[in-house]
Amino acid sequence: MIPFIDLQTQYRGIRPEITAAVERVLDSGQYALGSEVDAFEAEFASYCAAPHAVAVSSGTNALHLALLVAGVGPGSEVITVPFTFVATVATIGYTGARTVFVDVEPHSFTLSPDQLEAAITERTRAIVPVHLYGQPADMDPVLRIARRYKLTVIEDAAQAHGAAYRGSRVGSLGDLACFSFYPTKNLGACGEGGAVTTSRPEHDQALRELRDWGQAAKYEHRVKGFNYRMDALQAAILRVKLRHLETWTRARQAHARRYQELLAEDVATPTVMAYARHVFQLYSVRAPKRDELRHELHRHGIQTGVHYPVPVHLQPAYRDLGYGPGDFPVSEEAAREVLSLPLYPELEEKDVRRVAQVLKSLVTPPRVALPGLETG
Ligand SMILES: *Cc1c(COP(=O)(O)O)cnc(C)c1O
Repeated sequence: MIPFIDLQTQYRGIRPEITAAVERVLDSGQYALGSEVDAFEAEFASYCAAPHAVAVSSGTNALHLALLVAGVGPGSEVITVPFTFVATVATIGYTGARTVFVDVEPHSFTLSPDQLEAAITERTRAIVPVHLYGQPADMDPVLRIARRYKLTVIEDAAQAHGAAYRGSRVGSLGDLACFSFYPTKNLGACGEGGAVTTSRPEHDQALRELRDWGQAAKYEHRVKGFNYRMDALQAAILRVKLRHLETWTRARQAHARRYQELLAEDVATPTVMAYARHVFQLYSVRAPKRDELRHELHRHGIQTGVHYPVPVHLQPAYRDLGYGPGDFPVSEEAAREVLSLPLYPELEEKDVRRVAQVLKSLVTPPRVALPGLETG
C-alpha cells in the first residue's frame, strides 16, 4: 500500500527534536503567544524574506485578518479564483464582502491576469491570487493591475511555503500573504496554525491587535477583534520543522522530477512555469477518465487525492454568488480531470517508480496482438 501522505514517518525522523521543543514549552508555563511565537514569527518572516510575520491559529484565520486589514467589508468586492480550497472564498464572506471570480490559466491553474481587469468595479478592494499546489500565480501582471486601480493584493500562500516568483519568495510579493500550517501542508504543525506576512508596519500592528481581541494594551479594545492566537506548542514545533523545510522541499522537487521523467509521455503532467520555483505541495496530473483511473489505482494499493472535485462557484453553499455551470470553463475542466499522486518528502524512490509504472499500465492501451505476427 502506498499512502497519499505519511505524517508518522516524518515525525519519527525528528522525534527527539520535537520532544525537546514540546517539553521546553510545557516547562515554561507560557502556552498562548509568548516567546516561542515571537521567535517563530521572526524565523518565518526571514524564511519568506518578508519584514513582518504574524502567527495565528489557522490559514483560514490568516486570510480573514488579512482581508480585514486591507479594508475589505460589507459593500466591497474581492476578486479570486473558483479553483481553490473553499477557505479562500469563505473568508471573503466572513467580512461581509462579495466574491467575484475570474477563471484560472489552463497550465498553471492560477489566476488568469488577462481576465482581471474586466472583473474590477468601483467596489473592488482586493485581489487574492492562490499559489495552487505550491506554484506561484503570475504575480507581475496582477501587481501591475492592482497598482493601477489601487487594490490590495493578498497572496493565498497556504500551499506554497518557500515557493518563489522570478526569484522572489512567496510571502514577499503582495501587500499581504497568508500561510497555513495545517498538518498536511509543506510546513505543518501538530494541530492548526497559520501566519500572515507583510511588508507594511501598519498592517503588522493591526494584525497583532485583531488576532488578540483588538487589544493594543491589556483589556483596552480599540477595535472588535478575535481569538486567533497561535499556541506556543505549535510555534515550538513549527520552529523545529522550519529548520528541515528546505531539505523536505528539495525531496518533494526530486520526486516530482522523477514522476515527470517516468510519466510525461503517457500522462498530462504538471507544468512548471518559467517564472516559478514550484514546491509541490501537491503533484496533480490530468486524466480524462479520472474517477475510473483513481478507482483502479486504489485497487492496486495506491492512494490518491482530488484537489478539487468541484470548483467553489458550483458548490451548493456558494450558489448565492450567482454563478453557474459554464461560467469558468478552465476551472470546471480541471475539477473533472485532476488527480493528485502520492508526494511527500519521505516517499521512497521505489514507491515513485511503482506509482508511475501502475499509472502507465492503466492509461496505455494494451497492445493488440495481430494474428500471424505473434508466431514465427
Ligand atoms: C489549507 C488552505 C487554506 C486554509 O488553511 P487552514 O489552515 O486549513 O485554515 C486556505 N487556502 C488554501 C489554498 C489552502 O490550501
